[in-house]
Amino acid sequence: MNKSEDIQTGIGRTACAPPAPAAWKPGTSIQLGAGAEPNMKLEDLRDNGVGCIELAWPNDVFDMLEPDNRNRCEELVRQARELGIHVWSLHLPYGTEWDVSAVDERHREAAIARHLQLMHLAAAWKIGTVILHPSWEPIPAAERNERLQACRRSLARMAAEAERLSLRVAVECLPRTCLGNTSAEMRELLAADERLGVCCDVNHLLQEEPEEFVRKLSSRIITVHMSDNDGLDEKHWYPGEGVIRWNDVISALLECGYHGPFMFEVRPVSPDRLGQCWSRLMSDYSKIGLKIAGGEDEDAAPIEKC
Ligand SMILES: [Zn+2]
Repeated sequence: MNKSEDIQTGIGRTACAPPAPAAWKPGTSIQLGAGAEPNMKLEDLRDNGVGCIELAWPNDVFDMLEPDNRNRCEELVRQARELGIHVWSLHLPYGTEWDVSAVDERHREAAIARHLQLMHLAAAWKIGTVILHPSWEPIPAAERNERLQACRRSLARMAAEAERLSLRVAVECLPRTCLGNTSAEMRELLAADERLGVCCDVNHLLQEEPEEFVRKLSSRIITVHMSDNDGLDEKHWYPGEGVIRWNDVISALLECGYHGPFMFEVRPVSPDRLGQCWSRLMSDYSKIGLKIAGGEDEDAAPIEKC
């Protein structure tokens, strides 16, 4: 097997016992610019136990490279850290101009260049993970293979640049006709470079059960987007409001030794609802018994994080 195709060795994760889910930090994606929740305060996130954030923005109306926006964001990063909130990830924009699967080489190069500018910003802000959508949509069936190959070339370039910047690129699984809409296709994309990780967005998985996807991509999963759906399309509902079997998702992540944050990507973002949702998920999970996670019991000494 070619080294870059070894799906399990991934990005150098050290083997260790899986942590209990309560060891995961709950986090949330927050929108900047026009999509921002008007009354949401970072203090409220902290007070509700939300210890991580991901920065995201609607790229059609918010240009992060515009100096005022960049300065505002830098200030938000500073404030979050002062409150003890980990700024875990930055969501790279998506859309036609950001499509790294474009078949036209000039278009694709321009998209990569845009992403690289933001990756430099993420590195300057010491945010360790960037989330990348492998394509925009729709992808016509007749073009799919060509788009996959184009995307793989982009991913290899971005993975190399990420390493130079001490970043990790997490390729997000996507719904509908987008590239990366199944675990099998994600594997094809990840084979472009072993340094690539996965952002598992359970709400985007419309063709297979999320727990199945998690087990198949296993150690390549370095971050997650957690929200619920109706089984037909993405909804970004709070977990428990849709059809996803959360205990099964949590079990699968534990089996795979996942140790990133439990990053919610729900809309609207409400700190107290997030805190309540996290408590309920943990309470529901505790009821099925912790045996699935590797024989841990509540009185056992906490397991050191990987
Ligand atoms: Zn997502």
